[in-house]
Amino acid sequence: MARYTDPVCKLCRREGMKLFLKGERCYTPKCAFEKNSAPPGMHGNRRMRRKVSDYGRQLREKQKVRRIYGVYERQFRRYFRQAVKTKGLTGATLLQLLEQRLDNTVFRMGFADSRSQARQLVSHGHFVVNGRKVDVPSYSVQPGDVIQVTDRSRGLTYFKDLAEGSQRTLPKWVSVDSAAFSGRVMDLPARDDIDIPINEQLIVEFYSR
Ligand code: SF4
Repeated sequence: MARYTDPVCKLCRREGMKLFLKGERCYTPKCAFEKNSAPPGMHGNRRMRRKVSDYGRQLREKQKVRRIYGVYERQFRRYFRQAVKTKGLTGATLLQLLEQRLDNTVFRMGFADSRSQARQLVSHGHFVVNGRKVDVPSYSVQPGDVIQVTDRSRGLTYFKDLAEGSQRTLPKWVSVDSAAFSGRVMDLPARDDIDIPINEQLIVEFYSR
């Protein structure tokens, strides 16, 4: 599966906000966006002053969400099509589908510092879902699912440190027992569980043109 390998801080500057793609570093003064928030490229500052069209705003919102969740365009479109077919508000359903990804859930449970790290941990086979090994980051979790670190991986220093206590504030839809290397999906993620400023209506408008 292809994945984005270029410098990610550039993406925050492009979207004009912190996307928190690098885990701990994003909360320190080392954050590249804190040092320079202008769009990337030698004309970054000049381009900032340009008037943005409706299309431009819709496109940027779509790109922003895609980058936050680390999803490629094709897969993102698939999520959108699935959201359209599902009963309820399309934009909110789209965000819910993205939140339900296994890599995002592992991140939300505090087993990883960032979604990209979570994605790597999942694809390297460090987790089981309901007792079965799942190494597909896009796997969609459902209420009642139990996600655990595999017995073998529990001996790794990384997971041992985590078990000593993660400080992450958990969203309402998950519960975690760090000492048992385990988390449970309590409910479907709700719109107000997503703490990032996103205007999902712009994404719906983008794909409805
Ligand atoms: Fe974005 Fe984090 Fe890089 Fe800061 S450190 S620019 S928030 S990815």
